[in-house]
Amino acid sequence: MARKAKKELQHKISEADRYRRAALAGLILSAPLIILGILLSLDALLILGYAIFITCTAITSFFTAMRWQYAKTLRSLMKEAQKTTSVNECPRCGTRITKHSGYCRRCGKKINVRARTLK
Ligand SMILES: [Zn+2]
Repeated sequence: MARKAKKELQHKISEADRYRRAALAGLILSAPLIILGILLSLDALLILGYAIFITCTAITSFFTAMRWQYAKTLRSLMKEAQKTTSVNECPRCGTRITKHSGYCRRCGKKINVRARTLK
C-alpha cells in the first residue's frame, strides 16, 4: 500500500520534472523571439515571444510547486514507513513487537532499543 503510493509519487515527480524541462525549453526559445521582435520592430513576433515567455514561466512555477509538494509527501511517507518498521516490527521476521520489549517474541532477535528511542 505504502510502497504503491511511494511509486506513484516518484512517477509524479518525474512527470513534473519532464513538464518543467519542456517549459524551460520554451522559456529559452522565447528569448530569441523577443529579441528578434525588438530588432525587426515586429510587434506580432514580440507579442508571441512574450506570450510564450509568460506561459512557460507560469508552467515552470506550477510544476516546481507540484514537484516540491510531491517530494514533501514522499519524504513524510518514507519517514512514516521507517518509523513503523523500526518501532513496531522485527527487522528480521517482520513480527509485530510490543513497544518496550527488547527481543522479538517469535525469532528472538534483539531489538535495537537505541534506534527505537531515537525516532
Ligand atoms: Zn523476529
